Amino acid sequence: MLVLVINAGSSSLKYQLLNAVTGAVLAKGIAERIGLAEPFIKHNSSGREAVTLPVDMPNHKVAVQAVLTVLLSDEHGSVKSMDEIDAVGHRVVHGGERFSSSVMITPEVKRAIRACYELAPLHNPPNMTGIEACEEAMPGVPQVAVFDTAFHQTMSPKAFMYALPYELYERLGIRKYGFHGTSHSYVARRVAELLDKPFESLKIITCHLGNGSSIAAIQNGRCVDTSMGMTPLAGLCMGTRCGDIDPAIVTMLMEKENMTRQDVDTLMNKKSGVMGISGVSSDFRDLYAAAGDGHRRASLALDIFKYQCRKLIGSYAAAMGGVDVVVFTAGIGENTADVRMGACEGLAYMGLSIDPYKNAAVRGREAIISSDDSVVKVLVIPTNEELAIARETARITGMKL
Ligand code: ADP
Repeated sequence: MLVLVINAGSSSLKYQLLNAVTGAVLAKGIAERIGLAEPFIKHNSSGREAVTLPVDMPNHKVAVQAVLTVLLSDEHGSVKSMDEIDAVGHRVVHGGERFSSSVMITPEVKRAIRACYELAPLHNPPNMTGIEACEEAMPGVPQVAVFDTAFHQTMSPKAFMYALPYELYERLGIRKYGFHGTSHSYVARRVAELLDKPFESLKIITCHLGNGSSIAAIQNGRCVDTSMGMTPLAGLCMGTRCGDIDPAIVTMLMEKENMTRQDVDTLMNKKSGVMGISGVSSDFRDLYAAAGDGHRRASLALDIFKYQCRKLIGSYAAAMGGVDVVVFTAGIGENTADVRMGACEGLAYMGLSIDPYKNAAVRGREAIISSDDSVVKVLVIPTNEELAIARETARITGMKL
């Protein structure tokens, strides 16, 4: 069964056409600069050269139609007719408390996704635009929403509540929701498969370390805690996001630096993290290059990141009363041996040690990197959110996998 996976942003639309059974990717690409000058589609059809096609795309509806035209074209396409596409799976960032699983999109579901706009003002509105564009362009094709927050809905109130007046939770939904759920769930299930253990029997800590980073604690097949919060700004320090800071800093900056709400928002989301500390880059490859050249603040940024990862691994082991497996995934987790080493440094007391040689040899592939005598297994598992969304879409639409 073929599923078109859509990840719609404010001016871009990522897509992947894949077989949900085999995981084979027929085509993938991104429509960029939607609604802006000089829009284009970067398209990569399996077995052919990647192409960049200038296409006029004043809005998402036209962008979806343009993507379908490319997918169906003789020159660049992968399918002969739209009938071959069985369903569409949409990544939706915030499902609030309403969605603990993926769902078939209905008018009622769309109302509920709109009700979460306040919680994810940058993400949910463009996600909805992508949904409505696909509904119009592909009438009759089932559409499924897969939420970044859904997997974390199993957290108990003691994990998700903030110590603020309770009525703010009731009235405004202020609580921890967590994100990257599709990725945490995918790598945790995959690790159970690889170790040949029931998913429900394991205590797993999943470290999704990319431009955005989060760590999750998974016990008995359910998420019990995660580091991102009401928004994806919380938790670990990230590429340009500050992660957890003393909340009093916000009001202090507004007062002392005369900053507006928007200024502080931009500072914390776009100018902080390893970028803000190093002054070099948000990209870990640049940080390692600079640190190698003796750049002190680049080294400091890397040290802070690794230290924060280690503290979270330790605290989640405490939260679950132990840990069986630690998994690293996403751009940094899959490719950067030094971060994995630093995140696990000094954890031998809890039975966790990495084999430095195995670790150094792994980039972007599935592998066990713990030493043979480590009680806690440590693995690298490349994430595949598109495949996870395609499988969820197949499951929800009742199509046979
Ligand atoms: P996103 O959260 O945008 O999906 P990614 O998971 O692609 O981000 O992660 C991006 C981060 O991964 C960047 O900091 C980048 O430096 C790092 N990264 C990606 N590839 C490599 C690599 N081959 N070696 C080291 N770091 C990498």
